[in-house]
Formats: sequence, C-alpha cells, structure tokens
Amino acid sequence: MIVTRFAPSPTGYLHIGNLRTALFNYLIARKAGGTFILRIDDTDPERSKEEYVDGIKQDLDWLGIHWDKVERQSKRLDRYEEVADQLRSLNRFYECFETPTELDLKRKKLLNMGKPPVYDRSALSLSSEEKDRLRQERDGHWRFLLNQERIEWTDGILGDLSIDAASVSDPVLIRGDGQVLYTLASITDDTDMGVTHVVRGADHVTNTATQIQMIQAIGGKVPAFAHHSLLTGPQGEALSKRLGTLALRDLRDAGMEPMAILSHLARLGSSDPVELGRDFDELIEGFELTKFGSAPTKFDVEDLKPLTAKALQAKPFSEVQEEIAQLGVPADKADTFWKVTRDNIETMHDLKGWWSLIRDGAEPDIADEDAEFVQQAMDLLPKEPFDEQTWSEWTASVKQATGRKGKSLFMPLRKALTGQSHGPDMATLLPLLQNVKR
Ligand code: GLU
Repeated sequence: MIVTRFAPSPTGYLHIGNLRTALFNYLIARKAGGTFILRIDDTDPERSKEEYVDGIKQDLDWLGIHWDKVERQSKRLDRYEEVADQLRSLNRFYECFETPTELDLKRKKLLNMGKPPVYDRSALSLSSEEKDRLRQERDGHWRFLLNQERIEWTDGILGDLSIDAASVSDPVLIRGDGQVLYTLASITDDTDMGVTHVVRGADHVTNTATQIQMIQAIGGKVPAFAHHSLLTGPQGEALSKRLGTLALRDLRDAGMEPMAILSHLARLGSSDPVELGRDFDELIEGFELTKFGSAPTKFDVEDLKPLTAKALQAKPFSEVQEEIAQLGVPADKADTFWKVTRDNIETMHDLKGWWSLIRDGAEPDIADEDAEFVQQAMDLLPKEPFDEQTWSEWTASVKQATGRKGKSLFMPLRKALTGQSHGPDMATLLPLLQNVKR
C-alpha cells in the first residue's frame, strides 16, 4: 500500500512551489490507489495560524486535490516525547547548552579555518555535574547523535545519493524551550503513519540523510525519497522571494483555471511537453517521477494564461452554468452565451465585459471613412430580437445596397456592433445582442 503525504507548515498560504510538492505526492498516491495524507506541520505555536490551516485546505480543495486523512502535529506532542525518550534510551539523543551566540562563534571559527561548520559535539563530554550546573543557568536543547558514516539512498529523481554524516551537524530535535522541531515530528509521523514515499524539494536532501538514520534508529521503515528541483523565475532567478506573489489564492483571483495550473506543474521540468490535461485521470496516467530532471525548473506565471484560455474553451456549459447565472445572463440565453464567448476570453473575468456588451450594447468603433457606410447598414438592420438568420440576411442586403464585400463589408459592422475587431462569430453573437447602439 502506497502512502504519501503533503506536509505544509501553516505559516503562510500555499504558493506555486508548495503546490508542486503537493501535486507530486497526490499523483503518486492516486496512481497506485494508495493513501494521500494532508499533514499539518504545526509544532511551532508562534508561527502557525489557524487561518493558514483553513487557507491550505481551501486552496487544495479549489484545485481538486483531495486528501484521505488530515493529521495535525500539534495533536501528537506526547508521541514525540515518547520517541525522544526512545532515542535517549538508545544513547542517540544528547543535551546541549550552547547559546545561539556561542554556536555562531564556533561556526565562524571553523569557517575561518576553512572547515565545514559542523557542531563539535562538545556537549557529549560534559559531566553530569557540569550539566546540572548548566541547567540552573539555562535550558538545554537536544541533538540527535548521528552515526558518522556515509548515508546512501537511491533518490526517485536524483538517482544514487550519498552524504557523509560527518559533514553534517547533529540535528537539534528539541529546542531549549521544549518545542519539538519539525525533524523529530516528521520522522515519527512518517514512521507511525506508514508513509512509503516522500517527495519534497531539493532543499531537503541533507535533512533526508539525517532522517534516514533517525528512522532506522527508532525501528521505522525508511520510505522511498525523491527530491524535485526547486522552481526559479523565468530568468533563472531564485523564486523564494517572489513566492509570496505566487500564492494559489492570488492565481485564483487572477482567474487562472485549476486544470491549467495542475497540468503545467504536472509536466514542468519533466521530459514531457507541457500541455493541457483533460482531467486528473489524464495527469495521473502520464505522471512518472523518473521523467523529471534535477536542474532548477523555470516557472513563468505568464505560461498559465494560454493554458487557462484553452481550459475554458474545453469547458462544458454545465461547469460554468452557475457563474454565468450569477452574471445575470437569463437562463434561455446562457448556453449560447457560453458557446459564443468561451473562445474569446482569457479568464472567466472577461465574461462580465461580454455580458454588458450584449445587454447594453458596445461603444461603436467607427472609422471616419466607414461612417456613412455604417449608418446605411444600421438603417437596414431590423429591430431586436435578432435570430440565427439575421446576420446573413442583413449583410446580404447591406452588400446589395452599398456594393461592399468581404472584409470591408464585415469588419466595420463587427466594430460598430462590438467595438472590437476580434470576437465571436457574428451570426451566433447577433441573436444575443439586446441593445444595439444605432
Ligand atoms: N513542513 C515541512 C516543510 O514545509 C515538510 C517537509 C517534508 O516534506 O518533510 O518544509
């Protein structure tokens, strides 16, 4: 049984970078008929906010990424204490007393000597009397004692990886104030919840190495790990600072379609071309982790626009019926309204403009040299309501009366009726127009 999880910290809204992780884990679980867990990593009580927990759920819901289970780390603190005790009894957990300033000094010293800034484990040599004395002064924090050997795994994306544990500081798992840190919570949960596959960003590769040792220490089964590349901006610039502007809710407000975003992220950085998927089934079927590369992946929010337009063109009326009704389009016209407009919008927001054009008429766009011609044509236009024949009958009579044909006949009429040089098929649009400005 495949079990994956998406484990956001509720310290902000989800952005496009988080979504990539969520989607990969979701697709893997669904493809295998497995379980997808939404795990809220909320052990930091100061930075975690309920508002973000709700926001994360809303955003995933909007995209159609449905989880089978929700877990909250803040509800499992007792369990993390148990695992901490287990690590203590295995002599893999030790208390340290350095202050942040002291640690910083040590780091700088090592760096000055050209050495990697790895914690020197001096706390291991403290006697119990020294520890008792230090405890009077300050709170101790707890580190996991790494076995200083090479840690190896075959990464689902990066291939064979090997990290020398001696080049990594023993990770702090419990802070001086008692707060359980992400790593302890995460290895406990991955073990207890039977997580079989973990996909996350390449910034977690070193974490993975140490977590493998921790999971082994507590007798857990090490999941299969895969690290996807990080997204960059279109010029290869780090996206981290801009991710705030790429929040999923902002993309939603900008009118981007879920299927456009999902299709883009399910292919971007893989050997498959980015194209609009029909539905989740199609995304699931084509998804293979091994198709993804290790190079940083360029993401350009502009690329979502053509995909969004395409997604709208493919949308059946039933899916937009409600939104169209909310615009005020009468039910008997709604279906035609959608057929007429969907090829001519970039986002659903553009429907509003089309509806007001249809309801109230457009500001005509008439070139000076066409003024007389348009006036003549308008005199020939029958009164509303129009029907499917109106356009062909009308243009035929205008042609006869004026001698114009082809583009010089049709374009000025389109511009006079819609104020635009592009747009829907006029024969279909005309019956919808309720108020032509003559
Ligand atoms: N809460 C962690 C993060 O957002 C989860 C990382 C993981 O997948 O283990 O970075």
